[in-house]
Amino acid sequence: MGHDLLPPAPLRLGGEPLPMVGPVRLYVCGVTPYDVTHLGHAATFVWVDTLVRTLRAANMQPIVTRNVTDVDDVLTEAARRAGSPYDEYAAIHQYAFDHDMSQLGVRRPDHEPRAHQHIGDVIRLAQALLDRGAAYEVDGTVYFRGAGTASAAGLDEKTAREQFVEFGEDPSDPAKDNPFDVPVWRASTDPDPAWPSPWGPGRPGWHAECTAMVLSHYGSSLDIHAGGADLAFPHHAYESAQAEAATGVAPFARAWMRVGTVRIGGEKMAKSTGNLVLVADLLKEHRPAALRLMILDRRWSDAWDYSADTLGAAEGQLDALHAAAGRLGDSEAAEREVVTRLLDDVDVSGALAVALESGGRPARLLVQVLGLS
Ligand code: ZN
Repeated sequence: MGHDLLPPAPLRLGGEPLPMVGPVRLYVCGVTPYDVTHLGHAATFVWVDTLVRTLRAANMQPIVTRNVTDVDDVLTEAARRAGSPYDEYAAIHQYAFDHDMSQLGVRRPDHEPRAHQHIGDVIRLAQALLDRGAAYEVDGTVYFRGAGTASAAGLDEKTAREQFVEFGEDPSDPAKDNPFDVPVWRASTDPDPAWPSPWGPGRPGWHAECTAMVLSHYGSSLDIHAGGADLAFPHHAYESAQAEAATGVAPFARAWMRVGTVRIGGEKMAKSTGNLVLVADLLKEHRPAALRLMILDRRWSDAWDYSADTLGAAEGQLDALHAAAGRLGDSEAAEREVVTRLLDDVDVSGALAVALESGGRPARLLVQVLGLS
């Protein structure tokens, strides 16, 4: 492909310029491996994969870290119901997730930290927060002072409280100074799982796990933090607030890529509502490239509704792109324009329009960069 086309156009993300000189440090919140992979998960990881492929096509050097949240109450409870040790249960579901991602052409990350391997980092994070007065300890639990986190995230108290509870936080915990404080380290006498700490046995809080995994891989900040849109609050807000409080370095993340929610009939796709579309089921009848194109032919931040018609339309667009790629044509300007569009907020729809119009080499370049062959 056209490495000779470079220097590339400027990179923009979330509508803002994101100038890069050195490696691009990227972290994406991965899955809690206790369940099947649905289209909502797939959308997040296909978009991140496409951003990474775009950066590589522009001769930039992305470093990708995608964690596995293998220490989490929902996972522990699911494992207990199944009668399995939590780590074995996580490993089995991780295998299924990896298989789905590989079918979808999502490349393996450079680093894939698992929460249970970073217990020491969470303990160091908790200690740093205590040392700086940003946390306090009650009966073996270390709480982060989160009184200002909701307003910093631009949320009113009512909305913040609803989202807080939806993600398993407890605003009415009487041990807290403020309802919006969150556990960095939680006391637990339940051994499945628990680890020793200076405050007694326990396990990490969810947000603190990601904070610790980012800091241990990248130092005190990173370039792009990605994840599903529903993670904005409380997860990303607390992850970021804890990092900035512990290190004194702000911003924690230079840019965020929060991928829009996938809905069915206007409702968020979620296990709790039972309206799941599974990647494995779609792949029985559709080409992986059609799934990728359905996910990508829109703005990454937009929420959207899945339907069989949407997937059918993507199948048609994919055929049109392959037909265009088979035509003669080697417009260097069009090829440059394809890369320029992708670097401008990963504008796949814009790049696709250029490729369909010009055909030939620019279309083949887009097929390659987006993984649509
Ligand atoms: Zn996370």
